[in-house]
Amino acid sequence: SKAKLFDQNTDIKVSFKDVAGLEGAKEEVQEIVDFLKNPKKYTSLGGKIPKGALLVGPPGTGKTLLAKAVAGEAKVPFFSLSGSDFVEMFVGVGASRVRDLFKQAKEKSPSIIFIDEIDAIGRARGKSNFSGSNDERENTLNQLLTEMDGFGTNTNVIVLAATNRADVLDKALMRAGRFDRQIYVDLPDLRERQEIFEVHLKPLKKVNEELDTEFLAKQTPGFSGADIANVCNEAALIAARKGKEAVGKQDFLDAVDRIVGGLEKKNKIIT
Ligand code: ATP
Repeated sequence: SKAKLFDQNTDIKVSFKDVAGLEGAKEEVQEIVDFLKNPKKYTSLGGKIPKGALLVGPPGTGKTLLAKAVAGEAKVPFFSLSGSDFVEMFVGVGASRVRDLFKQAKEKSPSIIFIDEIDAIGRARGKSNFSGSNDERENTLNQLLTEMDGFGTNTNVIVLAATNRADVLDKALMRAGRFDRQIYVDLPDLRERQEIFEVHLKPLKKVNEELDTEFLAKQTPGFSGADIANVCNEAALIAARKGKEAVGKQDFLDAVDRIVGGLEKKNKIIT
């Protein structure tokens, strides 16, 4: 059987209101939405629409969410693949997968291509010692560069890629006409964590009146949006297990403790 080469979603429901905080990043990607919706307006004076932008920031900060929101706002198809899927691939498969992806995206243009964890394929060439898979990774990277260079000026496919290691990327990726824009997606500050809690409290069936999102934000310094989504979900599970009718303050505190415990364990394994 043929493995799925990439994901394709022609009906993304995510919009900017699902992305809490990240005002600067949202402003920058709003421009990409405008390019997709109204390319003629932008090219009328001879300017070229950018082909790609790099979303840079720590894990779980909403890079994938933001890329989906661009597609949702512009109402265009969203094609995605993850760099880590390429790690154990047979020779030639990576490059042909990239070729197919771009072909489909062009046929359905205007459209968005999203490459998560681009560092897995976009590491500086000739700098890794893992023999074997390295050639394949370079082939895949070269194909990606070839595809982006091959875009005509009116292709109207925009490639977004996410990474938390912009420093290891091959400089060729950042050259003009490729990923020449970088958009920073940072960990949320207090205000932003409060906004993220507001988004993720909504799906909970019942939350105690006394719960205030500023209090919750103060309990979660250093948490990413993904961590906060996790806290809200855990809190609902903890409360339900106790047979409660509503999720309360203590359930959130217990959930925070659990997530902090998980984060500490994860860091221990890394260091
Ligand atoms: P990774 O680098 O690990 O792939 P990412 O930056 O792409 O992470 P997402 O996958 O977008 O992060 O985030 C995971 C989930 O966390 C989202 O689906 C969402 O539920 C929640 N989340 C993260 N950031 C935000 C945010 N700014 N606003 C609302 N929810 C968020």
